[in-house]
Amino acid sequence: MFACANGWLCRGLTVGQHVQKEVKVSAAEDTEVKIPPGREFQLPTDPDHLWDGLQDVGLGIRWVAEVKKADMQIELSGPKWEYKSYTILEVIEDPNQVRDGIVTLIGPDIHEVEPGTSAPSAWEIKVYGPGITQRHREYVERQMAMALHGIEGYMAFGSFQAPWMRISKAVVGRLTFAKLCQVVHAYVKTVVPQVEKMEFRWIVATPEVGGLDLILPLYKRGIERLKAQEQSVALEDEDVDIFYGCTICKSLAPNHVCAITPSQIPYCGILSYNGAQVTVELDPEGYIFPMPKGECRDPDLGSYTGVDEAVYERSNHQVKRVNIFSAIRYPTTNCGCFEGAAFYIPEVDGLGLAIRRYIGVTPLGIKFSRLAGMISGGSQNHGYKGISLRSMQSKTFLKGDGGWNRIVWMPADMKQEMAEYIPEEVYDKIATEQDTIDPGELREFLKQKGHPIVERFWKNGEPQPLNLPPPGGDWPDE
Ligand code: SF4
Repeated sequence: MFACANGWLCRGLTVGQHVQKEVKVSAAEDTEVKIPPGREFQLPTDPDHLWDGLQDVGLGIRWVAEVKKADMQIELSGPKWEYKSYTILEVIEDPNQVRDGIVTLIGPDIHEVEPGTSAPSAWEIKVYGPGITQRHREYVERQMAMALHGIEGYMAFGSFQAPWMRISKAVVGRLTFAKLCQVVHAYVKTVVPQVEKMEFRWIVATPEVGGLDLILPLYKRGIERLKAQEQSVALEDEDVDIFYGCTICKSLAPNHVCAITPSQIPYCGILSYNGAQVTVELDPEGYIFPMPKGECRDPDLGSYTGVDEAVYERSNHQVKRVNIFSAIRYPTTNCGCFEGAAFYIPEVDGLGLAIRRYIGVTPLGIKFSRLAGMISGGSQNHGYKGISLRSMQSKTFLKGDGGWNRIVWMPADMKQEMAEYIPEEVYDKIATEQDTIDPGELREFLKQKGHPIVERFWKNGEPQPLNLPPPGGDWPDE
């Protein structure tokens, strides 16, 4: 055993053919945030040896797993940390900015923590390849997710921007953070041969490393960088004739189909319209497929003949129509991996929003986890719709239901995070858990604040609750 510069005891673990050396990642390299020193590992980069040293870790679909709390060696991010952590993959255009196969680990490795440790984290991945552009980022990200889901003892829920990972005690001594990167490095280079270089940095922010105080500014900065990159390739729904569909989650929800438009990021948050387009270009026989728009029946609801035809065919003929911009009437189906959800609150004829990291009770009287369980599985649940944080930033967000004028409740930190996208005149009129979670009090709150719902949707100052059809049912008037 030997002590690293950062104070953890390294037990001389054999890590395949990685070469371990110490490195300092100083404030000089990262001018805004001071990052503690860490260690570097060199992964094999010879194409014939990318997988060397991974023989003792189970890989493949049979290893997709959930790791229970009692079985975890380490948990990264998740509800305990209100999902304030991130995984960010960036496409770098200058090959000199990416050192192929280098893994920098800031913080303890898997075998160096007490069993049951939980910490916020940051996982940054830089990718370079001739012809790999910002448009390809999400495709590469998706391949990375595929690689990770098949690693023995590794659990991943949530999304890249709100992750929840656990690593099982069963793989301690066999799996390390460098090996996790090696699987991603080898898999991505195998399935996307255009990728020439990948470099990784893990920050496992235990209290000694800096905890949330270290992660939060990095998180904020990373999200801003991603936003700028996305805006550089942004399109509008009207600019295109073809949307895209995705059925990856059929394994969890057999009748589920997602519709992806330039304005609608699917609720798992893992890819945008550009990402879907690139995926179809590179993998035309895959789970993402073109969905010609056809005729637009209603631009506010997001009702298109072509979308309905595709959804009907791909949903085992179970879903006849969807309104892409509505949670209330014929919403798209929910598989289960949504970042958040919109839900109808009958007592106020309005919509509430909640996100996975909100662990309190909603005005429905249940927590998000229970709500998510109720609406998952691939049925068309009128009144409920999975949402992603990025879809909330769109001008078509729940447009068919009245948009932000119909939103009456959301968790305080989600509201704060979305502040720049919520119309100023509505912002103070949306209640949070700090105001109330009681539907009766919520009704009074909305009246008192003069929420637009009172004028636009209520009659004579009173809400008119809708009678929602059962899952998969039809509205009586249509
Ligand atoms: S939620 Fe939708 S877009 Fe995301 S992976 Fe599942 S089917 Fe695809």
